Amino acid sequence: MSHMLRFITAGLLLLASPVLVGQARPSAAGLQTPGKPSADKPRTPRLYIFDCGTLDVADTGRFRLKREEVTTDKLSVGCYLVAHPRGTMIWDTGAVPDAMVMPGGAPVRYRIALPDAQERFVTLAKSLKTQLAEAGYKPADVTHVVLSHYHYDHSANTNDFASATWLVRQVERDAMFAAKPPDLVLPSTYSALRGSKTTIIKTDDHDVFGDGTVVIKFAPGHTPGHQVLSLKLANTGRVVLSGDLYHYPEERRLGRIPTFDDNQEQTAKTRLALDAFLKQNAAQLWIQHDYTASAKLKKAPQYYD
Ligand SMILES: [Zn+2]
Repeated sequence: MSHMLRFITAGLLLLASPVLVGQARPSAAGLQTPGKPSADKPRTPRLYIFDCGTLDVADTGRFRLKREEVTTDKLSVGCYLVAHPRGTMIWDTGAVPDAMVMPGGAPVRYRIALPDAQERFVTLAKSLKTQLAEAGYKPADVTHVVLSHYHYDHSANTNDFASATWLVRQVERDAMFAAKPPDLVLPSTYSALRGSKTTIIKTDDHDVFGDGTVVIKFAPGHTPGHQVLSLKLANTGRVVLSGDLYHYPEERRLGRIPTFDDNQEQTAKTRLALDAFLKQNAAQLWIQHDYTASAKLKKAPQYYD
């Protein structure tokens, strides 16, 4: 990171500028803690949550919310690992490629340049692979790679998991590899998936390990093949990870749909269907980008089971 760095605010945050994600360097190897054993095979599913950064929201209007209707201008970025007796699945891979992340563990503010000249700022302390290693995992341990959807803030480290089986809807995969990719997409972050072993999901629900504890649910609208993750955990109970069906909890409370959803009518229908599912199953909805709620959740190496 040879670019000029300058301190902002309290001196804890650095601005790395400019950083072109589209030209991300190959992943840095050897970030795992040497000699650290892999986590034991769990007897029941575990959910690890990694802090994959905090996204600054310059304009809440994109979520059809006025600034005074929300309590924060920040969104959390989560990455999730489900450790199941029959396999290990990663759900979303963050907004900042590990190769960009400066070592040391102090929060750094990174600039993400999007193809259409938009930019985003994400503050992050630790790379995903460092956090994985602290929980006893490395990318090669991951058997299934799943993105809630194709946007850049969910895909940054996807190439690291190309040896896993990719679970995706055809319509989403087609968009990701189209000659002209959709907005808010950085194909270089997931290009290795093109050659990955791939399972095209054709049913609304896909039971990943065959025992009903980890189910990917079709939840289109935000993107054409958007999905949410339904988990049945022995002690925590039922939890659904939202993908970007919502970003702010106020979208849910006030019934607002982001202006940039691929199909807003479809989002409304998906939200209604998921509400019914949540009620029927007494499931909690964890909104992945909800900064306030996410801050209260246990982070890896702790886990929910
Ligand atoms: Zn997102």
